Amino acid sequence: MAIVRHLQEQYQAFENVFLVPYPKDTVDITVDLRDNRRQIIASLTHTVAPGDILIRTIGAESHTPYETIQPAADPEHCIHIAYVAEGYTESQMDSFIEDCKTANEALFAHEPFKTLRSKFNIIAVKSPSHDSGTSEPSKGIWKNTALHSNFDTFYSDRYLTTLHLKDLHNWLAGTPYEHIIVLVNTDKYGGGGILNSYNLSMTKHSLFKPVVVHEFGHSFAGLGDEYAYGYEQIPMYPHDIEPWEPNLTTLVNFDSKWKDMVKKGTKIPTTFNETEKKMEKWNIGAYEPAGYSMHGVYRPFPDCRMRTNQNPEFCPVCRRAITRLIDFYTEKN
Ligand SMILES: [Zn+2]
Repeated sequence: MAIVRHLQEQYQAFENVFLVPYPKDTVDITVDLRDNRRQIIASLTHTVAPGDILIRTIGAESHTPYETIQPAADPEHCIHIAYVAEGYTESQMDSFIEDCKTANEALFAHEPFKTLRSKFNIIAVKSPSHDSGTSEPSKGIWKNTALHSNFDTFYSDRYLTTLHLKDLHNWLAGTPYEHIIVLVNTDKYGGGGILNSYNLSMTKHSLFKPVVVHEFGHSFAGLGDEYAYGYEQIPMYPHDIEPWEPNLTTLVNFDSKWKDMVKKGTKIPTTFNETEKKMEKWNIGAYEPAGYSMHGVYRPFPDCRMRTNQNPEFCPVCRRAITRLIDFYTEKN
Protein backbone atom coordinates (compact mmCIF):
# COMPACT_ATOMS: atom_id res chain seq x y z
CA MET A 1 0.00 0.00 0.00
CA ALA A 2 1.29 3.44 -0.81
CA ILE A 3 0.85 6.85 0.64
CA VAL A 4 -1.42 7.97 -2.15
CA ARG A 5 -1.91 11.65 -1.90
CA HIS A 6 -0.72 14.79 -0.24
CA LEU A 7 -3.71 17.03 0.26
CA GLN A 8 -1.62 19.88 1.49
CA GLU A 9 1.92 20.39 2.68
CA GLN A 10 2.20 20.77 6.39
CA TYR A 11 4.63 20.03 9.18
CA GLN A 12 3.60 17.38 11.65
CA ALA A 13 5.31 15.27 14.27
CA PHE A 14 4.90 11.48 14.41
CA GLU A 15 6.16 9.24 17.16
CA ASN A 16 8.57 6.53 16.05
CA VAL A 17 10.55 3.74 17.68
CA PHE A 18 13.99 2.48 16.66
CA LEU A 19 15.44 -0.80 17.90
CA VAL A 20 19.13 -0.53 18.81
CA PRO A 21 21.45 -2.82 20.80
CA TYR A 22 21.56 -1.64 24.41
CA PRO A 23 24.78 0.42 24.59
CA LYS A 24 27.50 -0.49 27.08
CA ASP A 25 28.70 3.11 27.24
CA THR A 26 27.31 6.55 26.33
CA VAL A 27 26.54 6.84 22.61
CA ASP A 28 25.06 9.46 20.29
CA ILE A 29 22.23 8.14 18.11
CA THR A 30 21.38 10.23 15.04
CA VAL A 31 18.18 9.83 13.04
CA ASP A 32 18.04 11.49 9.61
CA LEU A 33 14.82 12.09 7.70
CA ARG A 34 15.29 12.14 3.91
CA ASP A 35 13.01 13.27 1.11
CA ASN A 36 12.39 11.37 -2.14
CA ARG A 37 15.65 12.75 -3.57
CA ARG A 38 17.41 11.26 -0.51
CA GLN A 39 18.38 14.72 0.78
CA ILE A 40 18.36 15.08 4.57
CA ILE A 41 15.49 17.40 5.53
CA ALA A 42 15.55 16.90 9.30
CA SER A 43 18.04 15.41 11.72
CA LEU A 44 17.93 14.57 15.41
CA THR A 45 20.81 13.44 17.63
CA HIS A 46 20.04 11.94 21.01
CA THR A 47 22.64 10.94 23.59
CA VAL A 48 21.93 7.65 25.30
CA ALA A 49 23.74 6.99 28.59
CA PRO A 50 23.04 3.42 29.77
CA GLY A 51 23.01 4.52 33.43
CA ASP A 52 20.42 7.28 32.88
CA ILE A 53 17.84 7.04 35.69
CA LEU A 54 15.06 8.14 33.31
CA ILE A 55 15.46 5.00 31.18
CA ARG A 56 12.56 2.79 32.20
CA THR A 57 13.16 -0.96 32.07
CA ILE A 58 10.01 -2.80 31.04
CA GLY A 59 9.34 -6.37 30.04
CA ALA A 60 11.96 -7.88 32.36
CA GLU A 61 9.51 -8.92 35.05
CA SER A 62 6.28 -9.37 33.17
CA HIS A 63 5.37 -9.44 29.52
CA THR A 64 2.28 -9.83 27.36
CA PRO A 65 1.26 -13.52 27.16
CA TYR A 66 2.39 -15.13 23.90
CA GLU A 67 2.40 -18.50 22.13
CA THR A 68 5.17 -19.86 19.94
CA ILE A 69 3.67 -20.62 16.53
CA GLN A 70 6.88 -21.89 14.98
CA PRO A 71 10.26 -22.43 16.70
CA ALA A 72 13.45 -21.79 14.71
CA ALA A 73 15.91 -24.66 14.17
CA ASP A 74 18.79 -22.59 15.62
CA PRO A 75 17.56 -19.92 18.07
CA GLU A 76 20.99 -18.22 18.02
CA HIS A 77 20.90 -17.53 14.28
CA CYS A 78 17.31 -16.85 13.33
CA ILE A 79 14.85 -14.07 12.59
CA HIS A 80 12.25 -13.36 15.26
CA ILE A 81 8.79 -12.39 14.06
CA ALA A 82 5.95 -11.41 16.39
CA TYR A 83 2.29 -11.37 15.41
CA VAL A 84 0.44 -8.78 17.51
CA ALA A 85 -3.31 -8.83 18.18
CA GLU A 86 -5.24 -5.63 17.35
CA GLY A 87 -8.99 -5.32 17.82
CA TYR A 88 -9.34 -8.77 19.47
CA THR A 89 -10.96 -8.83 22.91
CA GLU A 90 -9.78 -11.30 25.60
CA SER A 91 -12.52 -13.72 24.57
CA GLN A 92 -11.46 -13.55 20.88
CA MET A 93 -7.85 -14.72 21.38
CA ASP A 94 -8.56 -18.21 19.98
CA SER A 95 -9.65 -16.50 16.77
CA PHE A 96 -6.41 -14.44 16.81
CA ILE A 97 -4.26 -17.59 17.11
CA GLU A 98 -6.16 -19.16 14.18
CA ASP A 99 -5.55 -15.97 12.13
CA CYS A 100 -1.82 -16.08 13.00
CA LYS A 101 -1.62 -19.65 11.72
CA THR A 102 -3.46 -18.69 8.51
CA ALA A 103 -1.09 -15.74 7.90
CA ASN A 104 1.93 -17.88 8.69
CA GLU A 105 0.95 -20.69 6.30
CA ALA A 106 0.34 -18.07 3.57
CA LEU A 107 3.76 -16.51 4.12
CA PHE A 108 5.65 -19.81 4.14
CA ALA A 109 3.85 -21.05 1.03
CA HIS A 110 5.89 -18.38 -0.82
CA GLU A 111 9.49 -18.85 -1.89
CA PRO A 112 12.09 -18.17 -0.59
CA PHE A 113 10.35 -18.27 2.81
CA LYS A 114 9.21 -21.85 2.09
CA THR A 115 12.76 -23.19 1.69
CA LEU A 116 14.20 -21.08 4.51
CA ARG A 117 11.32 -21.64 6.95
CA SER A 118 13.50 -23.16 9.70
CA LYS A 119 15.37 -19.83 10.05
CA PHE A 120 12.28 -18.10 11.47
CA ASN A 121 11.09 -18.11 15.08
CA ILE A 122 7.47 -16.98 15.22
CA ILE A 123 5.36 -15.95 18.21
CA ALA A 124 1.79 -14.68 18.63
CA VAL A 125 1.42 -11.89 21.21
CA LYS A 126 -2.04 -11.74 22.78
CA SER A 127 -2.48 -8.00 23.34
CA PRO A 128 -6.15 -7.63 24.31
CA SER A 129 -8.40 -4.80 23.10
CA HIS A 130 -11.35 -3.32 24.99
CA ASP A 131 -13.39 -3.13 21.76
CA SER A 132 -13.54 -5.60 18.88
CA GLY A 133 -12.55 -4.32 15.39
CA THR A 134 -10.83 -1.08 14.41
CA SER A 135 -11.63 2.59 13.88
CA GLU A 136 -13.23 3.74 10.60
CA PRO A 137 -13.12 7.56 10.67
CA SER A 138 -15.04 7.92 7.38
CA LYS A 139 -18.02 6.27 9.09
CA GLY A 140 -17.52 8.08 12.39
CA ILE A 141 -16.54 4.80 14.08
CA TRP A 142 -13.84 5.09 16.74
CA LYS A 143 -12.82 2.04 18.78
CA ASN A 144 -10.75 1.57 21.92
CA THR A 145 -8.18 -1.01 20.80
CA ALA A 146 -4.72 -2.16 21.88
CA LEU A 147 -2.93 -0.13 19.18
CA HIS A 148 -5.59 2.45 18.25
CA SER A 149 -5.29 1.57 14.55
CA ASN A 150 -7.55 3.17 11.96
CA PHE A 151 -8.53 3.20 8.29
CA ASP A 152 -8.37 6.47 6.28
CA THR A 153 -4.68 7.14 6.99
CA PHE A 154 -3.80 10.21 4.87
CA TYR A 155 -7.53 10.17 3.92
CA SER A 156 -7.04 6.97 1.89
CA ASP A 157 -9.96 4.70 2.86
CA ARG A 158 -8.08 1.38 2.61
CA TYR A 159 -4.85 2.61 4.22
CA LEU A 160 -5.02 0.93 7.65
CA THR A 161 -2.23 1.82 10.08
CA THR A 162 -1.40 2.63 13.67
CA LEU A 163 0.62 5.70 14.62
CA HIS A 164 0.95 4.50 18.23
CA LEU A 165 4.35 2.89 17.90
CA LYS A 166 5.31 3.25 21.55
CA ASP A 167 2.19 1.28 22.52
CA LEU A 168 3.12 -1.38 19.97
CA HIS A 169 6.64 -1.81 21.37
CA ASN A 170 5.42 -1.64 24.97
CA TRP A 171 3.13 -4.63 24.28
CA LEU A 172 6.17 -6.45 22.89
CA ALA A 173 8.65 -5.60 25.66
CA GLY A 174 10.27 -8.74 27.02
CA THR A 175 9.28 -10.95 24.08
CA PRO A 176 11.63 -12.10 21.29
CA TYR A 177 10.95 -9.94 18.18
CA GLU A 178 12.70 -8.16 15.33
CA HIS A 179 9.88 -7.92 12.81
CA ILE A 180 6.23 -7.26 13.58
CA ILE A 181 3.02 -8.37 11.88
CA VAL A 182 -0.05 -6.67 13.35
CA LEU A 183 -3.28 -8.57 12.65
CA VAL A 184 -6.40 -6.41 12.75
CA ASN A 185 -9.74 -8.02 13.49
CA THR A 186 -11.84 -6.46 10.71
CA ASP A 187 -13.55 -7.64 7.52
CA LYS A 188 -12.92 -4.36 5.70
CA TYR A 189 -10.13 -4.45 3.05
CA GLY A 190 -6.94 -2.67 4.06
CA GLY A 191 -3.41 -2.79 5.38
CA GLY A 192 -0.02 -1.15 5.34
CA GLY A 193 3.67 -2.04 5.58
CA ILE A 194 6.58 0.16 6.59
CA LEU A 195 10.15 -1.10 6.21
CA ASN A 196 11.72 -2.16 9.52
CA SER A 197 8.69 -0.86 11.40
CA TYR A 198 5.65 -3.10 10.98
CA ASN A 199 3.27 -4.90 8.66
CA LEU A 200 -0.40 -4.49 9.39
CA SER A 201 -3.26 -6.38 7.73
CA MET A 202 -6.96 -7.07 8.14
CA THR A 203 -7.81 -10.70 8.89
CA LYS A 204 -11.50 -11.26 8.14
CA HIS A 205 -11.47 -10.27 4.44
CA SER A 206 -11.10 -12.86 1.63
CA LEU A 207 -7.84 -11.20 0.47
CA PHE A 208 -6.20 -11.50 3.92
CA LYS A 209 -3.59 -14.03 2.76
CA PRO A 210 -2.11 -12.22 -0.29
CA VAL A 211 -2.26 -8.85 1.50
CA VAL A 212 -0.38 -9.98 4.62
CA VAL A 213 2.36 -11.50 2.42
CA HIS A 214 2.54 -8.38 0.18
CA GLU A 215 2.83 -6.08 3.19
CA PHE A 216 5.53 -8.32 4.66
CA GLY A 217 7.45 -7.75 1.40
CA HIS A 218 7.49 -4.05 2.30
CA SER A 219 8.11 -4.28 6.04
CA PHE A 220 10.67 -7.10 6.02
CA ALA A 221 12.55 -6.78 2.74
CA GLY A 222 11.99 -3.14 1.73
CA LEU A 223 10.42 -4.20 -1.58
CA GLY A 224 8.65 -1.45 -3.54
CA ASP A 225 5.18 -1.57 -5.06
CA GLU A 226 5.34 -2.85 -8.64
CA TYR A 227 2.09 -1.16 -9.69
CA ALA A 228 0.80 2.26 -10.66
CA TYR A 229 -2.63 3.79 -10.37
CA GLY A 230 -3.72 4.54 -13.95
CA TYR A 231 -5.70 7.54 -12.78
CA GLU A 232 -3.12 9.09 -10.52
CA GLN A 233 0.63 9.67 -10.83
CA ILE A 234 2.50 9.84 -7.54
CA PRO A 235 5.94 11.42 -7.88
CA MET A 236 7.54 9.22 -5.25
CA TYR A 237 10.46 8.17 -7.50
CA PRO A 238 12.17 11.03 -9.38
CA HIS A 239 13.19 9.62 -12.77
CA ASP A 240 16.79 10.87 -12.47
CA ILE A 241 17.48 8.98 -9.22
CA GLU A 242 17.86 5.22 -8.84
CA PRO A 243 15.37 4.02 -6.18
CA TRP A 244 16.84 2.18 -3.19
CA GLU A 245 14.18 -0.56 -3.38
CA PRO A 246 15.76 -3.74 -4.80
CA ASN A 247 12.83 -4.49 -7.18
CA LEU A 248 12.42 -1.03 -8.79
CA THR A 249 14.68 0.81 -11.23
CA THR A 250 14.66 4.07 -13.15
CA LEU A 251 17.51 2.58 -15.26
CA VAL A 252 19.80 5.33 -13.90
CA ASN A 253 21.95 2.60 -12.29
CA PHE A 254 20.54 -0.68 -13.60
CA ASP A 255 23.88 -2.41 -12.90
CA SER A 256 23.17 -2.06 -9.18
CA LYS A 257 19.87 -3.91 -9.60
CA TRP A 258 18.99 -7.12 -11.49
CA LYS A 259 20.83 -6.52 -14.78
CA ASP A 260 22.88 -9.67 -14.07
CA MET A 261 19.64 -11.72 -14.10
CA VAL A 262 18.47 -10.50 -17.52
CA LYS A 263 18.83 -13.07 -20.33
CA LYS A 264 21.05 -12.05 -23.24
CA GLY A 265 19.03 -10.52 -26.05
CA THR A 266 16.23 -9.16 -23.83
CA LYS A 267 15.35 -5.58 -24.76
CA ILE A 268 15.58 -3.00 -21.97
CA PRO A 269 13.06 -1.45 -21.36
CA THR A 270 10.98 -4.57 -22.01
CA THR A 271 7.48 -4.82 -23.45
CA PHE A 272 5.22 -7.57 -22.20
CA ASN A 273 2.97 -9.52 -24.51
CA GLU A 274 -0.28 -9.31 -22.53
CA THR A 275 -1.60 -12.47 -24.20
CA GLU A 276 1.23 -14.58 -22.76
CA LYS A 277 -0.46 -16.27 -19.81
CA LYS A 278 2.19 -18.91 -19.07
CA MET A 279 4.47 -17.74 -16.32
CA GLU A 280 7.23 -20.17 -17.42
CA LYS A 281 7.56 -18.15 -20.62
CA TRP A 282 7.96 -14.81 -18.84
CA ASN A 283 11.38 -13.16 -18.92
CA ILE A 284 13.17 -10.94 -16.44
CA GLY A 285 13.46 -7.45 -17.93
CA ALA A 286 12.43 -3.89 -17.08
CA TYR A 287 8.69 -3.35 -17.40
CA GLU A 288 6.47 -0.29 -17.00
CA PRO A 289 4.50 0.66 -15.01
CA ALA A 290 5.86 0.41 -11.47
CA GLY A 291 6.41 2.53 -8.37
CA TYR A 292 3.13 4.48 -8.85
CA SER A 293 4.38 5.81 -12.22
CA MET A 294 2.95 4.86 -15.61
CA HIS A 295 6.32 5.79 -17.14
CA GLY A 296 9.95 6.06 -16.06
CA VAL A 297 9.92 3.50 -13.24
CA TYR A 298 10.39 -0.20 -14.06
CA ARG A 299 9.67 -3.54 -12.40
CA PRO A 300 11.56 -6.79 -13.09
CA PHE A 301 8.84 -9.22 -14.18
CA PRO A 302 5.35 -9.23 -15.73
CA ASP A 303 3.72 -10.05 -12.39
CA CYS A 304 4.68 -10.53 -8.75
CA ARG A 305 3.19 -10.62 -5.22
CA MET A 306 4.37 -6.99 -5.04
CA ARG A 307 2.20 -6.14 -8.08
CA THR A 308 -1.15 -7.94 -7.77
CA ASN A 309 -3.09 -10.02 -5.26
CA GLN A 310 -3.76 -12.59 -8.01
CA ASN A 311 -0.15 -13.57 -8.76
CA PRO A 312 0.71 -16.59 -6.60
CA GLU A 313 4.36 -15.78 -5.86
CA PHE A 314 7.18 -13.25 -5.62
CA CYS A 315 9.06 -12.61 -8.89
CA PRO A 316 12.65 -13.94 -9.21
CA VAL A 317 14.17 -10.52 -8.36
CA CYS A 318 12.08 -10.13 -5.20
CA ARG A 319 12.94 -13.72 -4.24
CA ARG A 320 16.65 -12.98 -4.54
CA ALA A 321 16.33 -9.77 -2.49
CA ILE A 322 14.48 -11.61 0.29
CA THR A 323 17.04 -14.46 0.29
CA ARG A 324 19.91 -11.97 0.59
CA LEU A 325 18.26 -10.34 3.58
CA ILE A 326 17.56 -13.66 5.32
CA ASP A 327 21.24 -14.58 4.82
CA PHE A 328 22.28 -11.18 6.20
CA TYR A 329 20.29 -11.79 9.38
CA THR A 330 21.22 -15.40 9.94
CA GLU A 331 24.82 -15.75 8.67
CA LYS A 332 27.19 -17.13 11.23
CA ASN A 333 30.26 -14.91 11.56
ZN1 LIG B 1 8.79 -8.59 -7.61
